[in-house]
Amino acid sequence: MQFARVKLTGFKSFIDPVELRILPGLTGVVGPNGCGKSNLLEAIRWAMGEGSAKSLRGAAMDDVIFAGTATRPQRQFAEVSILATRDDDDDVEVVRRIERGAGSAYRINGRDARARDAQLIFADAATGAHSPALVSQGRIGAVIAAKPAERRAMLEEAAGIAGLHVRRREAEIRLKATETNLARVSELLADMD
Ligand code: ATP
Repeated sequence: MQFARVKLTGFKSFIDPVELRILPGLTGVVGPNGCGKSNLLEAIRWAMGEGSAKSLRGAAMDDVIFAGTATRPQRQFAEVSILATRDDDDDVEVVRRIERGAGSAYRINGRDARARDAQLIFADAATGAHSPALVSQGRIGAVIAAKPAERRAMLEEAAGIAGLHVRRREAEIRLKATETNLARVSELLADMD
């Protein structure tokens, strides 16, 4: 998967709409302290389905919405769109939008979608929100200091099998529910004898 374009509106310090083209190869983001480098990476992770507000730096979901400055009022929503080309040459656009006080919603190629759908698109392509393809400040040190289990999770993400774990967990939950139903049916059948 190759990211082709990112669009941001109202996300943290990105007040006005910004469109960034991403060219093939390694992309670096440079600039003075506080100019929004980390916010840009957070925006990409957020649109990829990063769910927990804790793993972003803000404490609450709405913290990703531009909070206002002395000269500009706060925004009521934030929206981030990622346009990517999949390995089969199909384009996919994932949009996540959050309204103040109303939570966030996803659209994939213009259709309403769930967070899980967005997460799986990127996880299957080995570019999930925790992907080693996104290297933020301090990440290199974290890789070196990681425990074996954490390092294994990073390698699995890189290998593109993180999405399989999500599906396996879901299949296990469904299996358990089916086993419970079967046991109940057996009980009912026994009662009828
Ligand atoms: P550094 O290298 O110092 O970490 P950086 O370039 O990574 O800097 P960021 O941390 O991405 O910068 O951006 C910080 C800026 O974003 C700060 O000026 C902060 O006030 C602003 N900011 C963060 N969240 C919001 C928000 N919700 N509304 C408005 N501004 C915000």
